This record gives sequence, C-alpha cells and structure tokens, in this order.
Amino acid sequence: MHHFDRINGALHAEGVPLEALADAVGTPAYVYSTATLTRHYGLLADAVAAHPAALGPALIAFAVKANSNLSVLATLARLGCGADTVSEGEIRRALKAGVPANRIVFSGVGKTDAELAFAIEAGVRQINVESAIELDRLIEISSSLKQRATASRAIATPEIAIRVNPAVGAGGHAKITTGGATDKFGVPADEAHALYARASLSPHVTPVGLACHIGSQITTLEPLEVAFRALRTMTLELRAVGLTVSRLDLGGGLGVPYHGQSDLPSIEAYVAMAARVLDGLDVEAAFEPGRLLAANAGVLLSRVIQVNERGDGRRFLVLDAGMNDLMRPALYDAFHDLVPVRPREGEPRLYDLVGPICESTDVFARDRLLPPMQAGDLVAFMGAGAYGAVLASEYNSRPLVPEVLVDGDRWAVVRTRPSYEDMLDREPTADWL
Ligand SMILES: *Cc1c(COP(=O)(O)O)cnc(C)c1O
Repeated sequence: MHHFDRINGALHAEGVPLEALADAVGTPAYVYSTATLTRHYGLLADAVAAHPAALGPALIAFAVKANSNLSVLATLARLGCGADTVSEGEIRRALKAGVPANRIVFSGVGKTDAELAFAIEAGVRQINVESAIELDRLIEISSSLKQRATASRAIATPEIAIRVNPAVGAGGHAKITTGGATDKFGVPADEAHALYARASLSPHVTPVGLACHIGSQITTLEPLEVAFRALRTMTLELRAVGLTVSRLDLGGGLGVPYHGQSDLPSIEAYVAMAARVLDGLDVEAAFEPGRLLAANAGVLLSRVIQVNERGDGRRFLVLDAGMNDLMRPALYDAFHDLVPVRPREGEPRLYDLVGPICESTDVFARDRLLPPMQAGDLVAFMGAGAYGAVLASEYNSRPLVPEVLVDGDRWAVVRTRPSYEDMLDREPTADWL
C-alpha cells in the first residue's frame, strides 16, 4: 500500500505530479511520501498496541540504515518512532532528527571504541553486544568514562542486550541473510548464556535483554517464529539461574511486496505471532523495521535518455539513473517495478532497463513489458524508499541524487543535489602537484 497513484493519467506522489517535481529538481531524484510512512508506522504501532500484555510498552525503532534522510527520520520521530542505528553517524542523524536518546538502539558487528564511547555519553537506550570481545571493550570503555565523569557530566551505566545468532538464516537473497550459523552477526546461543552471565557480574554494564535479527525481505513468518522461540527459551534459561531479562529485541526483516504479491504476512499477523511467542514472559519487546516502513514510501524518478534498438530485436531503455543511484538490482538481483509516469498509447514492448554506468551490472531488469517509450519520457522505480538513496555513490563522477519529501500538496527538497563544483571542491589537490 502506498500513495503514488495516477491522477488524470499521470503518476503523482500524494497530491504532487511527478512531472512537476522532475521539472523543478531534475532527474534522477528520490521522492518520498509522508502519508505512506505515516500509514506504515501507524499500522505497526496499532498492531503492537493491541497486545499490551505480551509485548509491554514496546519500542518501534526504525532501522536508520534503510533510509537515513533527516526529514524521513524526523517524520517518523514525530510519530513516536525510535531508531535502530549501526554507526555513530546514524546515532547523530537520529538525535538531530529529534529521536530521544532513550529511543535509540545501537547495534552492529564492528563498533569502534570511539563509537561505543559516543553511544554511552549520548545515553542511548540500549547497546546490542555482538561478541565476547566487544563486551570486554564496552566494559573497559564504560569504566574509564565513569572514572572521568564529573558532577556536571555524569555517565550512566549502559544497558545492553546480547545479540543472539539463532542459527536460522532467512531473507529474500543470500546476501541479506544475517542469522545463519555462518553469518558474521551475533553470538551463538550456547555462548550467549555465558556472556550474559559474565555481563551481569560487571558494574559497568547492565544486561537487560536479548536481541536477534535474522535477515531481510523475509516473506514467511516461520523463520522469524523459530528465532523468537529461541529468544524465549533463552530468557527462561537465564531467569532459571537468577538473571534478569526484561527486554527482547526482535529485529526487523519483514518483507514487502516488491512484485505486488498479496500472500505476504500482514503486519497484524507478524505482530500477533510475536505476541503469541512472548506471551507470559513479561518483557518489553522492540521491533526494528527498516524496509517495512520505508520501501513503498519512495520512488526513484528517472528520465529516458534514449532507446537503443539492436538488429537482433533487443531494445535497451537507457535511463539517466544508474546502479550508483539505485544499487539493489546490481547488488542483490533485486526487483523494482518500473512505471511510466504518463504511459503512451500503443502496443506494449519488451525493454531491457539499463543505466549509463560503464559496468555490465548496470542493468536494472531484462525483458520488461512496457508501453512504447521515447527519449525524454519519465519513469518511476517503485519501492525504492528503503536501501535506495542510502546506498548511492558518486561512481562515474555522477553527483549524488537529491531527495524530495512530499506531504499532501506540498513538497521540499530534503537533500540537495551537489553541484559539480561541490563535488570537485571536496578534493584538495596535493600541495606538491
Ligand atoms: C538492517 C537491520 C534491521 C532492518 O532490517 P529490515 O529488513 O530493513 O527490516 C533491523 N535490525 C538490525 C540489527 C539490522 O541490521
């Protein structure tokens, strides 16, 4: 469900015609819909609120890596959404966008000392620890920060969760699976127990719970349920030896209908499953959706540069957006529907959708059936609001794509397109040249 619909034949973002946006900001450009973000967050918040006994005063923390635009984060923050972060940069973005520190979770397999110190000093809600070595480093950093604390700058003992690797990998592609036994994320269940016990002996960290995140674009509830049950079992085991477990962080990963499929688990069914598994544990749950909130809230607007027809009949639609602007197809064979903003009349034809980048992987799709296309036509890649702009680069010296946020009839450029001067001025020439 999203708010990109046709009005009088032309695709709009809510009340704003994409043609007008393309004229105003140029292409390619990412365009986000406030109504879609709000709707997705609302569905999840309502579903969670329907199970207060099982899920507690649950936290919904948007996975900032999916879309870290400050105005997108601020839109979600105003609705009460927290932030799941994986770097100091993301924590800084969340804070700047108005997410209170006590709604920020810090995860990640390779947090530096400086990042851990920053998170402690910022007073984030929870640091998810992913290894024994990281726990030792965190204890050390917390202890030394506390020694240096002053009356005016007190340091709170960080609350931590141990990220468990439940050995259930899942997700829409091998490259987005994170919970398999060979994946780099989290601590195996048998080690997590000892780690939790060790953390509770330290005065410099307070273990409050367990976390997991098994993958992304997961399209059935079964693997998630297996992982949540593993967290439940571990909670009971830890409590049996007298340890306190008050929070379970369930990660993100629920898939979205990139192909328009209607058989995906609903948000309500997903949350109801979590509530069933956690029932009676008396914990506070945390959900960390990224894709679920943002994917369908964004499109990548692009213009056809030209149509190349080969003698063998193959037809290439050469777009002004490339893999540097939207990397998911090249990176994970991802599917994005391509929609002409104002379709022409005529027999549909097969097109290969390609960008201008000098790489063979700069192909968005092969053999897509589209209405007849001509140079100058506008198209929109649908479902591009998550893992789109955040993965963009300046490869081939193409300035980063701008981002636009729409809200009803109004819109704003929420990240500007750098000029060529901006791009070149960042590179001072070595003084011996
Ligand atoms: C990426 C990530 C998420 C979000 O995943 P989605 O598939 O976008 O929902 C949640 N938690 C952690 C720890 C992550 O790394």
